[in-house]
Amino acid sequence: MAQPVVADLVIRNIGELLTMKGVDDPVVAPEAADLGIIKRAEVAVKDRKIFYAGPKDAGGFVVGPQTMIIDAENKVVCPGFVDSHTHAIFAGTREEEFLMRQQGKTYAEIQAAGGGIVKTVRATRMASEEKLRDALKRNIFKLSRYGTTTAEIKSGYGLNTEEEIKLLRVVKEVALDTDILIVPTLLGAHVVPPEYVSRRQKYVELVARDMVPMVHENHLATFVDVYVDEGAFTPDEARQILKAARDYDMPRKLHADEMEDDHGAELAAEMGCVSADHLIWTNEKGMKAMAKAGVIATLMPGTVLSLGHSKFADARAFIAHGVPVALATDYNPGTCMCPNMLLVMALGVLHMKMTAEEVMVAATINGAAAVGRAGDTGSLRPGKDADLLVLDIDSYRELPYRFGENFARYVVAGGGVIKAPKVFKKKYLQES
Ligand SMILES: [Zn+2]
Repeated sequence: MAQPVVADLVIRNIGELLTMKGVDDPVVAPEAADLGIIKRAEVAVKDRKIFYAGPKDAGGFVVGPQTMIIDAENKVVCPGFVDSHTHAIFAGTREEEFLMRQQGKTYAEIQAAGGGIVKTVRATRMASEEKLRDALKRNIFKLSRYGTTTAEIKSGYGLNTEEEIKLLRVVKEVALDTDILIVPTLLGAHVVPPEYVSRRQKYVELVARDMVPMVHENHLATFVDVYVDEGAFTPDEARQILKAARDYDMPRKLHADEMEDDHGAELAAEMGCVSADHLIWTNEKGMKAMAKAGVIATLMPGTVLSLGHSKFADARAFIAHGVPVALATDYNPGTCMCPNMLLVMALGVLHMKMTAEEVMVAATINGAAAVGRAGDTGSLRPGKDADLLVLDIDSYRELPYRFGENFARYVVAGGGVIKAPKVFKKKYLQES
C-alpha cells in the first residue's frame, strides 16, 4: 500500500473556500457558482503546490509533526491576488507633484517645478543596485501584505539600454529571493527620455533593435510593454517596438487609451497583445477588436482616484462585449502610490459598477491570465501553486463593503506564510 501523503501546510476550518472551480482560463461574466465555493472546507499543500482543496475530511492526506497548521476560524480562503501591472522598481518619491495636482496645477507647471516621470528617471539612474534592490524588496512586501502573491513588475525608469537592463537584472535577482511570483516586463518605451526629444525615432529604434534583443537574449523579461499616450509614444512608434517583440516571440502588453482615445485598444488587438491596460477612453470598436483577439482589459481604478479624476474605465461595457477584465494597482511613484489590491477591488465595485464576483475573478484568474500564468496560479486545484489568502471576513461579498481595511490575515506563497524581508528593521516587523 502506498504511504499516505504528509502535508507541509494545512488550512483548516475554512468557512468559505473560493476555488474559482480550479479553472486555467480567464472568466468574462462570473456568477457566484463560477467562484466554485465550498463551505466547511480545507486545503493541503505539499511541495509548494496545492495537494487538496475541497470539503473537510476528504483530502486523503495526513498531518505529521512538521506540518504547519493554520486555523481559518470559519473565514474566507481564496486564491492569492495577481497584480498584473506595477512599476514597483524605482527610487525616490513624488508627493510634491501629487499635492500640486490636487491644488489645480497643470502638468507643465509640475514639470517646470522639477516633477514628472523625469524626476523618477533621474533618481533611479543615480541609485545603486543595492539601494534599488532594498527598495524593491520593501515594495514587494507592501504589495504582498494586501494579498498579492504574483506581481508583474515593469522597468521603465532607466530609459537607455544600460539602465533598463540594470533594473531588470535587479528585478530578476530579487525575484529569485522572494516568496511571491514576479513577472518582469521591459518598458523601455515608457516615455521618450529628455536626451532624445529632438530625435524620437532614434529612441524607438534603440528600444526595438537594442533593448528588446538584449533583454530576450539574457532572459531578463517575459513581456514587452509600450506606453501609447500623447506624452509618450504614438501608435506607429509603438507598432515598431511591438513588432520587434513579436519577432523574438516575446508576449506583449500595451498602455492604451489612458488620457484620450488613441486607438490603443485596436493596436493591442492588431499586435496580439496579451493585455491592454488603463483603457479609460476606449471606444466600442476597440472593445470589439479586443474581444475578437482575446486581449484582456487590465483596469486600474486606483490611478484614476490618485489623479483626482472622475472618469473611470467602462468595465461594464468591456464585460458586455465579452472582454475579460483584470484589476491591477499600477503601483508607481507618479500616479498611484497604492499597493493595495483589496482597495482596488473595492474601487472596481464603487466606481466601475463591477459585481463582487467580477472583482474576485479580476484579481485572481484574470490577472493570472494577463501575466501568462493562469496554468500556475489564480485558482485552486491540485497541482497549482499554493498561493492562498485567509481573509478575515465571513463571505467574499463583504470584501468591497469593508474598503480600506486590510483583512488579509495570512498570505501564503512560495510554500509558507509571507514574512517581512530583512531590509525592514525589527520595529516594523512588530507592527506588521
Ligand atoms: Zn503603467
